[in-house]
Amino acid sequence: MNVLVCNVGSTSLKFKLFDMPGDKVLAEGKVERVGRTDAIFHYGNCSTGYSVKLEEQNIPSYAEGILQYLSHLTHPEYGVIADVSEIERVGFKTVLAKGFYGIHELTEEVLQAMRDYLVVAPAHNGPYLEAIGQIRQVLPGVMLVGVFETAFHTTIPKAERIYGIPYEWHEKYGIQKMGYHGASHGYVADVLTERCGGTGNAISCHLGGSGSLCAIQNGISLNNSFGFSLQAGPIHANRIGDTDAYVIPYLLSQGMSIEDITKGMDKQGGLLGISGVSNDLRDVQLAAEAGNERAQLAIDVYCAGIVHYVGAYYAQLGGLDHLVFTGGIGENSDLVRKTVCKAVAHFGIELDKEKNAARGNQIRVISTPDSRVNVWVIPANEELGIARRTYEY
Ligand code: AMP
Repeated sequence: MNVLVCNVGSTSLKFKLFDMPGDKVLAEGKVERVGRTDAIFHYGNCSTGYSVKLEEQNIPSYAEGILQYLSHLTHPEYGVIADVSEIERVGFKTVLAKGFYGIHELTEEVLQAMRDYLVVAPAHNGPYLEAIGQIRQVLPGVMLVGVFETAFHTTIPKAERIYGIPYEWHEKYGIQKMGYHGASHGYVADVLTERCGGTGNAISCHLGGSGSLCAIQNGISLNNSFGFSLQAGPIHANRIGDTDAYVIPYLLSQGMSIEDITKGMDKQGGLLGISGVSNDLRDVQLAAEAGNERAQLAIDVYCAGIVHYVGAYYAQLGGLDHLVFTGGIGENSDLVRKTVCKAVAHFGIELDKEKNAARGNQIRVISTPDSRVNVWVIPANEELGIARRTYEY
């Protein structure tokens, strides 16, 4: 079955066409700067190695982006299918829908449930709703499947899920811990299962522009550092992470508007907010090395947040077999891996310095043979997770 996976960003669209089962990627594509006349379009045929990058493209909408991708996919010379009717399903890395937390066909009812929680995940649900609507028009009759980022976390026990709020808020508004990054943590669980025969007790650290940790036991999520929204957990690139909820009424009482508070929490917090330098860890690290104290503080707060959750999940799991780093920072920052592992060395974690410092984009173990816990770098492959779930649906 040909499964097309769509990863939608606020101004970008990424595609991968899979031949399932078998996990084979036939072709991939990417549109950057959707909505502009200087958009960039990439396409690659994974069998022949043909690839093209077209700049200064007029791609006013997601629909236009997918049409351009489909015209490449079906091109007699560099395409991989003869006709779009060979695409049997489209899988989306959707984030949140009220009452639909698993894997669902994207019916009007599910799309309405995504609209109901637009305010909780505005940066994600808005672009997805727009892109799904347009792709539905371009590919009528094809089953569209939403693999919600909450899906992997539906196994989190209630005691870890329920907040100490008036229970009616949970019942009426659905407020509870949801957990996100499900495609990434689910893929980590798949890899450990394939390579080790099971996950045992594992902690998966997806550290990128947005970061979360996940406690996994025997393949199942038992906790995730995200909460009702994507605002919880260790600090993110721009988002604030865990903060006392009473900061908000206090700021309101001081005359700040809810719009300004939300903007501060979404865009002006995290690594950027503390460092005042950048939301990109590479810039923050350079500034810290040059003596910028706030940049160093941002790195310290970032790592402390991760250590906090590793400790909490170690306690919840009752031990640890695997500690996994994934995402842009998890895969690339030997500094963050080293700092975190040093802080929790007493859990039986011993990093191999050279393996930690080595670069590469392959799945690898970076702990010493004597380390009680295996430390892994597993490059994120959320699209494969989505393709598998869409195929199995
Ligand atoms: P992601 O959201 O998973 O694509 O991760 C993007 C983030 O990874 C960037 O904003 C950087 O902060 C981080 N990153 C990428 N490469 C490196 C690196 N070599 N060292 C530190 N951080 C990195």
